[in-house]
Amino acid sequence: MTGKSAKITQRHLDAASAVLNWYDSHRRHLPWRAGPGQPVDPYRVWLSEVMLQQTTVATVRSAFAEFTRRWPGVADLAAASRDEVMEQWAGLGYYARARNLHACAVAVVNDHGGVFPDTEDELRKLPGVGAYTAAAVAAIAFGRRAVVMDGNIERVAARWQAITTLLPAAKPEIHAEVDALTPDHRAGDFAQAMMDIGATICTPARKSKGRLSQPDCDACPLFETCMGRQGDPALLPMKKPKTPRPDRFGVAVVAEDEAGNILLERRGDKGMLGGMLVFPGSNWADGTPAQSRYPLEDNQAAKRLLEGGEAVTLNGNVEHIFSHFRVILTVIRVKPASGEGWLKVPKNELSGAALPTVMRKVARLAGLEAW
Ligand code: SF4
Repeated sequence: MTGKSAKITQRHLDAASAVLNWYDSHRRHLPWRAGPGQPVDPYRVWLSEVMLQQTTVATVRSAFAEFTRRWPGVADLAAASRDEVMEQWAGLGYYARARNLHACAVAVVNDHGGVFPDTEDELRKLPGVGAYTAAAVAAIAFGRRAVVMDGNIERVAARWQAITTLLPAAKPEIHAEVDALTPDHRAGDFAQAMMDIGATICTPARKSKGRLSQPDCDACPLFETCMGRQGDPALLPMKKPKTPRPDRFGVAVVAEDEAGNILLERRGDKGMLGGMLVFPGSNWADGTPAQSRYPLEDNQAAKRLLEGGEAVTLNGNVEHIFSHFRVILTVIRVKPASGEGWLKVPKNELSGAALPTVMRKVARLAGLEAW
């Protein structure tokens, strides 16, 4: 995001210096971070930043370890097949990121001689690298002055400046403050320090017994300069009330042929779960559960699996929450008359296939694998 910077005041300078001092002794030790004085590996920075989008640090820790064990450098990742990368990614969600991850590694190798470009502008030209990732990699891996704003930093800055404009309209205002706070030197350390403060001290407000949890201002290096702590910082940043997530309904068909193979199909690259393996099934229609009774009309191949086979509708449903809706799936198990035309994965190898989380839930309900 580009925008105007706020006027840099002594308060900004004092705050930035307090944040950097705090970082020197309180930084989190994360597997993708270089220690003080150690060389920074841009591959590890980029990989972790892509993984951390929409995924918790706890989940990323193990995924990062697996990825870097299997592909220690960008050239190793580029040499892997896309399917291998998708399989390794399974469970992390937002699968477009896995496709872009592989495409980006290939682009770094083919177009940049295996070396990540070191400016925000050049980084942004890589597949899947948006404004946030480009700024984070430029600052953390290459020491460039770049304005990094993720959810943690956004919250800390909004509270520090007591910004009461509703999100998302407040973003340019918050960005301007982060810009004014970001020092010319150690911009990467500053960004990581702000992330750490957001993750451990100036944490999101959670409601418990009707009360909002409060940030730990006494432990915060921004205590002296923060305007938000004088009011009720837990209320900041203010967000537009959420519109309720709608429900969508559909059917997934778990079909097993006579040889014990499970029949799957691969979704097209574009759209939800693009490029992932899924059970045959319907589109996910908006609307009422009643629609889920006839949904296979839109997938004649899946419908044919039920014809002539012994089909059982399983008790219970699979529910899965995506960012904009919840899907509720009816699961049908069938021994089809023919499995021709489908991708086949032996039942005992299914846990290694690139199935997205919602499909793993389907497999679990169908009693296929205990993940
Ligand atoms: S002083 Fe309190 S409200 Fe202000 S940034 Fe620190 S933890 Fe957040």
